[in-house]
Amino acid sequence: MKTSIIGYPRIGNLRELKFASEKYFRGEITAAELEKIAKEIRLYNLNLQDKSGLDFIPSNDFSFYDGVLDTAFLLNVVPERYTALGLSKLDTYFAAARGYQGEKGDVKAFAMKKWYNTNYHYMVPEIDDSTEIKLVGTKPFELFSETLGSGVKTKPVIIGAYTFLKLARYKGNKKAVDFIESIAFAYSELLKKFRDLGAEWIQFDEPSLVMDMNADDIQLFKVLYEKILSNKGNINVLVQTYFGDVRDCYKELCKLDFDGIGLDFTEGKRSLELLKENGFPDGKTLFAGVVNGKNIWCNNYASTLIKLSELEKLAHDIVINTSCSLLHVPCTLANETKLEERFKKHFAYAEEKLSELAELKKITGSNCPSETEEYRRNAALHSEPRSGGNENVRKKVATLTEKDFIRLPEFAEREKIQKKKFKLPLFPTTTIGSFPQTADVKAKRSAYRKGEISDSDYDFFIEKKIAECVALQEEIGLDVLVHGEFERNDMVEYFGECLDGYLFTEKAWVQSYGTRCVKPPVIWGDISRAKPITVKWSTYAQSLTEKPMKGMLTGPVTILNWSFPREDITLRESALQIALAIREEVLDLEANGISIIQVDEAALREKLPLRRSDWREDYLDWAIPAFRYVHSGVKPETQIHTHMCYSEFADIIKDIDDMDADVITFEASRSDMTILDVLKENNFRTEVGPGVYDIHSPRVPSKDEIKAAISKMRERINDEKLWINPDCGLKTRGNEETVPSLKNLVNAAKEERYENS
Ligand code: GLN
Ligand code: ZN
Repeated sequence: MKTSIIGYPRIGNLRELKFASEKYFRGEITAAELEKIAKEIRLYNLNLQDKSGLDFIPSNDFSFYDGVLDTAFLLNVVPERYTALGLSKLDTYFAAARGYQGEKGDVKAFAMKKWYNTNYHYMVPEIDDSTEIKLVGTKPFELFSETLGSGVKTKPVIIGAYTFLKLARYKGNKKAVDFIESIAFAYSELLKKFRDLGAEWIQFDEPSLVMDMNADDIQLFKVLYEKILSNKGNINVLVQTYFGDVRDCYKELCKLDFDGIGLDFTEGKRSLELLKENGFPDGKTLFAGVVNGKNIWCNNYASTLIKLSELEKLAHDIVINTSCSLLHVPCTLANETKLEERFKKHFAYAEEKLSELAELKKITGSNCPSETEEYRRNAALHSEPRSGGNENVRKKVATLTEKDFIRLPEFAEREKIQKKKFKLPLFPTTTIGSFPQTADVKAKRSAYRKGEISDSDYDFFIEKKIAECVALQEEIGLDVLVHGEFERNDMVEYFGECLDGYLFTEKAWVQSYGTRCVKPPVIWGDISRAKPITVKWSTYAQSLTEKPMKGMLTGPVTILNWSFPREDITLRESALQIALAIREEVLDLEANGISIIQVDEAALREKLPLRRSDWREDYLDWAIPAFRYVHSGVKPETQIHTHMCYSEFADIIKDIDDMDADVITFEASRSDMTILDVLKENNFRTEVGPGVYDIHSPRVPSKDEIKAAISKMRERINDEKLWINPDCGLKTRGNEETVPSLKNLVNAAKEERYENS
């Protein structure tokens, strides 16, 4: 059997691309220097994959920001507001990615959304009635030629036409079907160009095929590919799916003239069943996703071999593949110098997954697979008992009952009590928690981690930052203050460090969006709170001000979703274990005089199963209760806030209300505030702070822009329930943008208040 991967991380082993891009944004290096670093990363990755013996090596999986954005530029789907700036090609691209504010104009970035059920974000292409889809870009061809130049014939990877049309937002009257002709023509051209360049295989990524598809969707997919494949000539086309199974279109998929079909046998609950029921077409290659591309645990060869031998009965030509792009795992274990060997030997990042593919290839090629040394080593590893159990925690989770998940008194009663207690003005202003993590904060933390400064020096520094932050917020005139989260590198890792059962990595960075990376901690054992987490910082911050200081915690679902999870217990069980620990922290904060506590569930929407029929049972039925358990024990007058990133929760709006928080803040500015209608229609009970400006972009919103946003909100949300805040934490921004933005925000709220009294 041959081996393949769907894509490789492009950020660089030590995030070289991130640092270079950020230098470029600051004007510290030239475009040519940035291109040079990018090329070095690509060639390094290429060489690594080639040396590992991988048969199908992807190209064009590289991107300066995002693959969907690249595809939009490839297909001429670039709104005029960016091209009109008259910037260079690269800068036009970055303007669309990050927004642009400078001498040539002022434009917002493309909207950004979560990539299926991952923590990666893609840029949403915008299509209007004047959009003319045609092949105008050259990047995939250049990158293919670059690899040819190194003596490797790669498999170019392109987002497929169906997925592209499904991900786009349509701003005019035209819909996806109106672009069938033009996009099919563009993809046929693309195939032709690759053929001329000598490519043998091309991979079209079609993850949208694992979503619920209705008859129109299936028809769209079919028509598109009948056209695209009608004169593909002698190039082999692989349609690659991931993140689930293709139950709605498997039959059509098999009938179309693809040469390879890539299916996910890791997350695809029904993939195997589909093959068993319907067979697999003769003459086509099955790219079998059996090595998990999302988690960091070593593959279990014994169970993979069982899967593969089942598949061999159904398909004649099988390529061993990862379940999705390796973009979602860190690059290499080589830089994990601190992780103890007894843990590390259970880990496999992208580079190690290449070795796993090579070993699986060797094992499956052997006459006696279970006799191979690789197999035996792997079997021995997986038969070792895992450490890290905590009977107490398991028992507590097992004995939770219905009433543990109910906070009393009920919402309306609490709302009255809290209004009386806090006496906040109309349209209270607040922030989501973090303030800019400036260079001094990062430098101090890094020095502290290296042991260069003492605990007390570090604490002193954090206290100084908190004091500055509190003073700044008072000066700006915000109503509910935060301590600024300077002690945190990351909203999950920081909590994980104070919980037993977690493991930490040093350099296990995974791209989240653009140049942003996250370093998810690893759940190894049963979770419990080892020590108070935030109490010292929050109480210190509260001691500096008369205004309410929000305690700031990360919720159980987000902690779980942004960690690498265990595979030996259920996600439900892990979530409840974490909920137990965070509840202790909530009660501790309350006991120490913190009267408003925000429990962030930034990632709650993220792991919602892609198919509606799986939502309840596989997710909401435990995720919402886990959140409720965290705060069900507080007093009526303690105000519980939550925050969610991205407002794509229209379809679970009742469940969000059912989290039973007192206030929720979320992103709305990037989504044209459509969420507001949904709140109104559903009679949303929780008080809301739909972000009034987008913090993911370095631009400063004007006061009038914010007032316009507030007016829009007031059309749909009762004044008594409306909070005014940015749409997310400010840690990725600089003070230059943050201070004027918040001043404009507070002034906008004050004017609204004044005009209303
Ligand atoms: N409280 C966190 C912060 O402000 C929330 C971050 C997030 O939503 N991703 O940084
Ligand atoms: Zn957020």
